[in-house]
Amino acid sequence: METFNPQKNQEERFAQIKSEIEHMKANRVSKEEFEEVLARSKVLAEKGVNRTEEENIEKDALKTKFENLGVFVKTLPEFRYAVGCLGYYSEKKVEGLVSHENAHANKIESLGVEHVGYGIISFIDKNGKEEEYFFAKRGEFPEEWTREEELVALKQMAQAPEEYESNQPLSDGDKDQIKKANDELLK
Ligand SMILES: [Zn+2]
Repeated sequence: METFNPQKNQEERFAQIKSEIEHMKANRVSKEEFEEVLARSKVLAEKGVNRTEEENIEKDALKTKFENLGVFVKTLPEFRYAVGCLGYYSEKKVEGLVSHENAHANKIESLGVEHVGYGIISFIDKNGKEEEYFFAKRGEFPEEWTREEELVALKQMAQAPEEYESNQPLSDGDKDQIKKANDELLK
């Protein structure tokens, strides 16, 4: 009988991440395609309890599509390893990216929402240059939450990187999420 060997498991997991990153790099989608899927997914995710049954079905289909575009990992060491596998970021930049997403993840958990893991999606802009989208993935909001509670949480999740000691700048996506939540809160 084979005994459980955490180190061997980790090595296998890292080897798998490396091959998934290589596969993603060889099959990058266009920035337009990526942005279209992202924008629609965000609209549906942010609707939370306001989603219709049809929108829930659409959200599931988009989720599968989204997952096929990138590489998803569970833990912080896996995320750090995955970012490193891209092969073109300095160690300092990798650490910055990792602490930024970790701040989002910590905030997600501290608000009582499940933190599912981390994702990287790589795509190509119209000049052929590769770009990445990094994110911390959350589960659904608790069912008993009101819309206002969801919006406040979305805002706090987006602001997190500036709060923690890592003091990482917010991304355009983070700023956009804060603005959208504020707009709806003020309605
Ligand atoms: Zn961010």
